Amino acid sequence: MTLPWLSEEELFIKEVAERFARERLGDSYMERSKQEELEPELLREMGELGLIAPTISEEYGGIGASSVVQGVICEALAYADINVSYIAMTTPLIGGVIEQHGSEDMKADILPRMAAGELIVQLGLTEPRGGSDAANLKLKATKTDDGYILNGEKTSITWGANGHMCLLFARTGPESAAAHGVSAFLVPLDLPGVTCTRFDDVGSRPVGRGSVFFDDVEIPKTALLGKEGEGFTKVMEGFDLSRFLIALQCVATAQASVNETWQYVQDREVFGRPLAKFQGTTFPLAEHDSKLAALRALCYQGLAMRDKGMPHTKEAAMVKWMAPKWGTDIIHECLVQHGHYGWGHEMPHMQRMIDVMGLQIGDGTSHIMKTIVARETIGSIGVAYK
Ligand SMILES: Cc1cc2nc3c(=O)[nH]c(=O)nc-3n(C[C@H](O)[C@H](O)[C@H](O)COP(=O)(O)OP(=O)(O)OC[C@H]3O[C@@H](n4cnc5c(N)ncnc54)[C@H](O)[C@@H]3O)c2cc1C
Repeated sequence: MTLPWLSEEELFIKEVAERFARERLGDSYMERSKQEELEPELLREMGELGLIAPTISEEYGGIGASSVVQGVICEALAYADINVSYIAMTTPLIGGVIEQHGSEDMKADILPRMAAGELIVQLGLTEPRGGSDAANLKLKATKTDDGYILNGEKTSITWGANGHMCLLFARTGPESAAAHGVSAFLVPLDLPGVTCTRFDDVGSRPVGRGSVFFDDVEIPKTALLGKEGEGFTKVMEGFDLSRFLIALQCVATAQASVNETWQYVQDREVFGRPLAKFQGTTFPLAEHDSKLAALRALCYQGLAMRDKGMPHTKEAAMVKWMAPKWGTDIIHECLVQHGHYGWGHEMPHMQRMIDVMGLQIGDGTSHIMKTIVARETIGSIGVAYK
């Protein structure tokens, strides 16, 4: 898609991302979907090309790129493989929180390795008792003379089985303090007392979603980001970025299926003529293309608003519910338009549909997104999501 406002430098990054997706990812999506992790050498290659988190500033291993550029990268990667693009969605989110709130030592140590694709950091917010009411978390960080002791469980964590560190949200204040009693810590996952498990997911298996258990885990004071009690608001600021990136992941994945279906309806003959001669097949595709173009435009508008420091929470929530939902529906229709060929693992539509569907839940469900749109429109109605 043409993005007429990109600078020369930004267009160059777009070309690098598209070339990498074409030449390095190519048709490997279905094969990689069966793997339990992304290849470490692939991540390092992406890091070398600056395709993981260019939004991190230059002194910490990025190039200080705009949010729009991060969107362009996510879109280019997801067109070939939505699971590979996860790293270009979670790293800018988590890296952004660390860059804004971490200590100088933490930033210098961690961020360059994240941007280089050497260190995968998870975001640990959801707990078994529920994810939508995220501020109501229970995992406890008890203060000691030297630091904190962690006890509790995080669940449904992206990179849960494959991560090296966790940006962990833990309760340091009383439960009555809700969000204001939550603090953020950066915790290595090889410490004594940490156990990680892998879920048997229907999709996005290389991402390795899972649970992380903390059993009397000792961490130093330096693991705290910013001040105690500020953890929750920190991550919420970051979610406005990741929601646009997730939407672009879904848009690109659906666009791949739509483009392939445009080709298919021209090649496949029924009743003595190409399928494309029947408007019953081309009208839905025209609708899919229109919806995806509109969504994409709103994503980039929102990212540009973020880059200019304008409020963009409502736009982020809008695209975060629309893109996974419309993407799932669109890929479903593309699958059916391929007839019996679509209903098999030789074609990627089913896998794409499942992978996109997961993002109706991850990073806040569609219901919660609509609640945010409503709140941003008419004000708080007494529900504290943010
Ligand atoms: C692919 C994927 C990746 C994820 N990655 C991470 C991660 O990296 N880190 C992390 O911390 N978590 C992650 N999660 C967890 C995710 O954030 C939670 O699953 C999500 O927030 C919903 O929480 P829940 O599953 O506990 O559902 P619940 O909160 O129990 O909600 C159940 C259902 O009720 C609906 N609902 C809840 N409240 C309302 C309401 N007020 N109005 C209307 N409907 C409502 C929800 O939309 C949902 O459909 C991931 C999940 C998935 C699927």
